[in-house]
Amino acid sequence: MDLFEYQGKEFFAQYGMSVSPGEIAFSVDEAVAAAERLGTPVMVKAQVLTGGRGKAGGVKFAADIDSVREHATNILGLDIKGHIVGRVWIEKASDIAEEYYASFTLDRSAKKHLGMLSKEGGVEIETVAEENPDAIAKIWVDPVVGLSESAVREWVAASKLPDAAVEGAVDILQKLYTAYTEGDADLCEINPLILTPEGVVHVLDAKVTLDANSVFRHPEYAQYDETQTRDEREEAAHEKGLQYVGLDGSVGVIANGAGLAMSTVDMVNQVGGKAANFLDIGGGANADVMAGALEVINNDPSVKAIFINIFGGITRGEEVAEGIIEAMKRVEIDSPIVLRLDGTNAQEGRDMLAPHLDDSLMMESTMLSAAKQAVALASS
Ligand code: GDP
Ligand code: MG
Repeated sequence: MDLFEYQGKEFFAQYGMSVSPGEIAFSVDEAVAAAERLGTPVMVKAQVLTGGRGKAGGVKFAADIDSVREHATNILGLDIKGHIVGRVWIEKASDIAEEYYASFTLDRSAKKHLGMLSKEGGVEIETVAEENPDAIAKIWVDPVVGLSESAVREWVAASKLPDAAVEGAVDILQKLYTAYTEGDADLCEINPLILTPEGVVHVLDAKVTLDANSVFRHPEYAQYDETQTRDEREEAAHEKGLQYVGLDGSVGVIANGAGLAMSTVDMVNQVGGKAANFLDIGGGANADVMAGALEVINNDPSVKAIFINIFGGITRGEEVAEGIIEAMKRVEIDSPIVLRLDGTNAQEGRDMLAPHLDDSLMMESTMLSAAKQAVALASS
């Protein structure tokens, strides 16, 4: 469950971290009223479940009430990477001396929590990560051992934060770790974490993903589910009864069974591509289901190639083949399809598909070769 920035800040505040006072507003009038209560200057900040809001014009400084009105008018309804802004967070503006980056997430391969800290935070952190990875100090925390204050001090020293920020950073990073672990979060990110001219280390942006499976421990998390905004593709897929998760890559993925769908997404990543979605068509791969799945994926403009990965169990190869042939008659597909068909009666299915193969429908014999082919097509 991804939280909006303001919810993330509420979450952080519960763990004693320093955040700015603010109010949420769903209309221009509410934004103005909030700014009047808080007192200007304020920031007017788009609340959407995606990053890069500042660069998209969704974060504005307002020195007075007139500019609050102007910015709220412009930001409400703004489209930020496909997310329409429906609420703005009005927050007391902070003075910034420096912007840092701090986060905790899980490093699955190390089986440890990974903390990242950089003195070069702010809106260009992706560039820093790519061009100057040494500017990000990392710490791996064994979840059983936990994070000691001395380990945090070493980590802060490695990040070369200025002396003025050290004590504040040590304090806030310990709280961030507590929030991340006790709060059952998958990700807690602060970018920027700022140093004010007065020497206070303070949270200016919050990105929090909570583990939805922990709701039994935190009944209050149920509220976050209600506020989730589902993207249009997910809405369309759910209407067709398909299990669909939108991602941000360019390879459309269709698989039967959630386990295989996840492995397929992993495989696409492993060979250097990125999946545009996760689509589980379940046990059945008949023409209706397949046509529905292809339609949903085809409507996603970021899809450049489609990888259909079917392992027939109860569903037999011929049924799958028939489903695909029929679906391709019904839906005009813009991207090339790479198919891997295995399992029960796979050979019969492949034989049926053979006359239909061309540049728009290709077959590969293994999941790996199909993934490679799909990624190559998506990037060509
Ligand atoms: P993002 O673009 O979605 O990451 O949104 P942020 O909340 O991180 O805001 C983007 C940038 O706006 C920050 O890196 C700051 O430089 C600036 N900003 C945000 N809040 C304030 C504030 O209270 N005061 C000032 N001066 N700048 C701010
Ligand atoms: Mg930010």
